[in-house]
Order: sequence, then C-alpha cells, then structure tokens
Amino acid sequence: MNCLLEVSSLKAVYLVREGTIKATEDVSFEIFENTVTAIVGESASGKSTIIEAITRTLPPNGRILSGKVFYRTVGFDLLEMKEDELRKIRWKKIALVPQAAQQSLNPTMKIIDHFRDTIEAYGINWSKDELINKASEKIKMVRLNPETVLYAYPMQLSGGMKQRVLIALALLLEPEILILDEPTSALDVLTQAHIVQLLKELKTQMNITLIFVTHDIAVAAELADNIFVIYGGCLVESSPTEKIFKEPKHPYTQGLINSIMAINADMSKVRAIPGDPPSLLNPPSGCRFHPRCEYAMEICKKERPQLIKLPDNVKVACHLYKEGGCKDE
Ligand code: ATP
Ligand code: SF4
Ligand code: MG
Repeated sequence: MNCLLEVSSLKAVYLVREGTIKATEDVSFEIFENTVTAIVGESASGKSTIIEAITRTLPPNGRILSGKVFYRTVGFDLLEMKEDELRKIRWKKIALVPQAAQQSLNPTMKIIDHFRDTIEAYGINWSKDELINKASEKIKMVRLNPETVLYAYPMQLSGGMKQRVLIALALLLEPEILILDEPTSALDVLTQAHIVQLLKELKTQMNITLIFVTHDIAVAAELADNIFVIYGGCLVESSPTEKIFKEPKHPYTQGLINSIMAINADMSKVRAIPGDPPSLLNPPSGCRFHPRCEYAMEICKKERPQLIKLPDNVKVACHLYKEGGCKDE
C-alpha cells in the first residue's frame, strides 16, 4: 500500500495572553492510499489542531513550530510550500470540511452559489452548465436531490442535509484526500448513522483516502481502517481498528475502549478514566497522561515516551513497551 502523507514531529502552538498553548507535540504518522483513518480523543486534545496544521489552516494565533508534512503525490513538504503553490493542491488534491463548517454556509446564498464560489476561489473556469452538471453529480453522490437542494438556501436544509452538502462541495474537484473534522457531531443519532453510512459508500465507490476526526470512538470503529488516539496534544497510539478493540495498548486507549463498551456490554466492567484532561497551557512533564495513569512510574514524570513500533502495525507512546516487542514487565 502506498503512503500518501507522511507527517513527522509536528509541533503546533497557539499564542494567547496567558502564554503558549502546546496543542500538538511531536506528532508523527503515515496515511496510506485508499484507507480511512479516524483521529480520536477527548475534547481539547488537539485533534483539530493536527488537521489544521497539516492543511495549513490554523487560526491567526496558531503557529507551526516544527515538523514535516510530506505529500508524496506532489513530492513536497506541505509546510514548506508557498501559499500560491499550496492553493493549487488544496481542494483539488486535499479537501477539508472543517469542524462546525455548517455555520460557514452563507445564509443569503443558494447552494449552487456555494459551488460557484468554490470553483472561482480555486481559479477554475467551468461554464454554467458544466458547473450544474458537476455539482448535481456530487449532490447525488451524497444521496440528495440536486433539483431541490442546489436551489435551496442553507436555512431550508436540515443539519444532516447541510453536512451532506459540505461533503459534496469538498468532493467537487475529486480530491485524493478528504479530511472531515467531526462530520457527525451536532447531529441526532439517526442522522449520524446516515452520514457514517454515506462515508462508507463513498469509500467503496471512489478512490478516496479519508481522514476524519471524531471524539466518538464508536463512530471510528464503524468506519475506520486505522485509528489514531490523541491525548493532550500527543499521538499515544495508532493501530488497525480491529486490533485496537481487541488489544488496546496504551492505558488511555484502554480507558477509552472500556468507556464505550458501556453501551453494549456488562455495565459492571465499565470504568471511566479518573481525573481531568491536562491543561495544554502548562501540560504535565514527561508523559502527559501520567497524572491519570494507574501504571505511572518514576520515568513517566520525567521523560516523554516516544512513539515506538510494536508488531501488527501498532505504534504506541508509553514507557510500558519496548520497540518491536511486548509489554516491558
Ligand atoms: P474538540 O473535540 O473540542 O473539537 P480538539 O481535540 O479538536 O477539541 P483543538 O481544537 O485542537 O482540540 O484544541 C487543542 C487545544 O488548543 C485546546 O486546549 C484548545 O483550547 C486550544 N485552542 C484551539 N484553538 C485555539 C485558538 N485559536 N487559540 C487558543 N487556543 C486554542
Ligand atoms: Fe502511563 Fe507511563 Fe505509559 Fe504514560 S508512559 S501511559 S504514565 S505507563
Ligand atoms: Mg476539534
């Protein structure tokens, strides 16, 4: 399988009056062609920051301090590219539907005008008919009726329909990578299930590589081939989906999996993770999970664990494990 995107040692911060928020620390991962990757973690763990850093869409007070985002198709580090070069691949090669993007739909513009604005923004010269044809095709792909939806205003559509429209808009230029930040949040359970189903269909119908962010590991379980677990701005585990559910390695992942098993399984086995997520303004030393970890050792307070490779394509950042091997008893 081809590696499309190679992210290494990504470090991003936000500058605020109180100091520096260390939102993403030394994050490294690979994305393989035609796979679905879910980035999961609690609220404020840095999931959106990772996405916004790799697409260079951080808010004005965000800074990328170090790292590389090597995109193999173009053979460049996205973080090194000039803004005008980056514009050539944004949307055409990598499209992003940001978190809460529904609010970005302009209430005074019909849906077709959002499609027109998108092509104009990326310097594409389609005739009116071409635009209508392509937009209709994408609207059909997300299981909506183009005849009504393209000429509707955003307020005439439900939350689930707006989310589908945003996905259709992101698919307009047939990107190689589609990134969705929280595509199912703020939707009711049934609508969430429909969006998950739609993403499954898109994955099988199109040659597309999907990366999506969610705080809901059950949604990740249903859709993803691989899961990345983020805690306190760090990637603590990456693993094939089946493997992570059978055998979560990192103590935080184990806590997360235990908490979702609550839905289907024996309630007596449910354990919430004790303690609160760390402040990223002043994160804990060493392993950022150490104040909440039942296995914490002296070294955990001093040294940040590096992400190491275990068998079966699992990677974990925890002092309990040794490179290539098993738990260090
Ligand atoms: P959620 O699940 O709530 O969307 P997240 O995992 O996507 O959370 P991020 O939005 O990446 O988390 O935030 C990571 C950290 O950076 C948090 O502490 C958050 O408060 C902080 N943060 C995010 N955006 C900004 C900003 N523009 N300015 C200052 N701090 C920010
Ligand atoms: Fe727990 Fe230490 Fe592993 Fe961190 S490095 S998860 S504190 S055992
Ligand atoms: Mg977010």
